[in-house]
Amino acid sequence: MSGNAKGAETTEDINKAFNAYKRKIYRALKDDFLKTALERAVSSFRKNRDAALAAFPEVEGKRERLLEIKDEVICNLADYVARAREALERNHAKTYYASDASAANEILADIIGTGKTIVKAKSITSEELEFNSMMEETGNLVWETDLGEFIIQLLGEKPMHILAPAVHVPRERTAKVFSEVAGREMPTDPEKLTMFAREFLRDKYFSADVGFSGANFITADTGTMFLIENEGNIRFATNAPEVHVAVIGLEKLMPSLSDAMLGLEVLMRYAGYLVTSYVSMISGPAKTGDIEKITVYGAHGPRELHVIFLDNGRLKAARDPDYREMLRCLRCGACMYECAIYPLVSGHWGYHYMGGIGVPWTALISGGLTKAAPLAYSCALCGRCKEICPAGIDSAKLIERLRRDLKREGLVPGFIRKMAEAVINTGTPYPKED
Ligand code: SF4
Repeated sequence: MSGNAKGAETTEDINKAFNAYKRKIYRALKDDFLKTALERAVSSFRKNRDAALAAFPEVEGKRERLLEIKDEVICNLADYVARAREALERNHAKTYYASDASAANEILADIIGTGKTIVKAKSITSEELEFNSMMEETGNLVWETDLGEFIIQLLGEKPMHILAPAVHVPRERTAKVFSEVAGREMPTDPEKLTMFAREFLRDKYFSADVGFSGANFITADTGTMFLIENEGNIRFATNAPEVHVAVIGLEKLMPSLSDAMLGLEVLMRYAGYLVTSYVSMISGPAKTGDIEKITVYGAHGPRELHVIFLDNGRLKAARDPDYREMLRCLRCGACMYECAIYPLVSGHWGYHYMGGIGVPWTALISGGLTKAAPLAYSCALCGRCKEICPAGIDSAKLIERLRRDLKREGLVPGFIRKMAEAVINTGTPYPKED
C-alpha cells in the first residue's frame, strides 16, 4: 500500500496526530458520562443480540452463504457497479460514479446546488464526504433525522458508533441540549425526549427540498436500495421531498434481491433485532400508470432519484488479498460491543469509522495513513471481534498488516517506535521519555 494514498503524510504529521490522539483518549478515559452511557449500551446490546440469535438459529447458515456472496462481489466490484447503474437508469434514476470524496462532493454540489433544505437519514458513508459541513459551506441547511444523529448534530459532535451514533451520550446530556433548543426544561425521560425530536422534525420532511440517504444494500439485478431502520425517519426523508439523493459505498452491492434479503436477515440479527420496524426498498423515482397505463414519473414520492456510487479507495482495497476482507463489513456494530477497548473510549478510537474495523477503513478509505497510524496501536489484537463478526472479519489481522505497512512507510509514531526499540534493546517496553 502506498503511504501517500490520501495525502503526503510525514513522520512529523504522524507524531503530532499520535500526541493529539493520546490526549483525547486520556480525556475519554476520565469521562464518567461516557462510561455510564457505554456500560448501559453494551449490556443492552449483548442481551438483544443473544436473544435475536437464539430466536433465529438458522442465521448461522445464512451468514456462511452471505460470506460467499460478498466475497464474489468484492472480487468483481466494477462489474456489479456497472450492472447496478444500468438497472437504476432503466428505472429512470440518474447514476454517478465518484472515484473519491471530492468527486462525490462535486457531483452533490451539481445536483443539490445552494439554498436548499436537506433532510438526512443516517449514513456513515456520508461522513467520508463530511457531507454536512460541505452542504452548509455551499449555503444549504441540513437536518439530521435519525434521533442519535440529531442529538449529535445539536451537540456539534461526531458520531461515536457506526450504528448508534449517540451511544456515548447519556440521557442527561440529551435532555440538556434539547432544553436549549426547546427553550424550556426537558425531563431526562427517554420517551419524552424522543417525542420532542418527533415533533421538532415532523414538518421538516415536507418542507425540505432534498432527502439524503445511504443504503444498507443495493442490488445489481434491479438497482434496488435496501434501507433498514426502526425510527421511520428514513421513510419520510427518502419519500417526502421532491428529490432523493443517495451516496452508496461500493461494498453495499449485492447480486440480486434475494441475496439482499439474506443480507438483511443476517444484519438485523447481528445488530440485535429480531426484526426491524421498517425496510424500505427503493429502485427509482415515484411513478404511476393509472391513467391509460401511461407511465408518469413523480407520483406521490420523489420526482428524481440520484444515486452516487462511491469508490474512495474501495476498488484498491478489493484488489489487496488481505485488506479486501474489510469490505465484507455489514456495519452491524457487533464487534464494538465485544471489544475490550471500544467500550472504554467509544468513537474517540476512530476517525469516521470506529473501533478495530475502523482502523483499516480509516487507512484505506476515509482518512489515510496519518489518521490511521495512531489508531492502529490501540488494538489489543485479542481477536475477540472476529468471533462475533457475522462477516468473519479478522480486524486484528488487518491491523497487524497495517502496522507492517506503516513500518515500511516509516510512519510509526515516535512513541511506539521507541517502545519497540526499548523492548529489543532492554527487554522492557517503557522507553525513557524525551
Ligand atoms: S466488522 Fe463485523 S461485527 Fe464489526 S460492524 Fe462489520 S460486520 Fe459487524
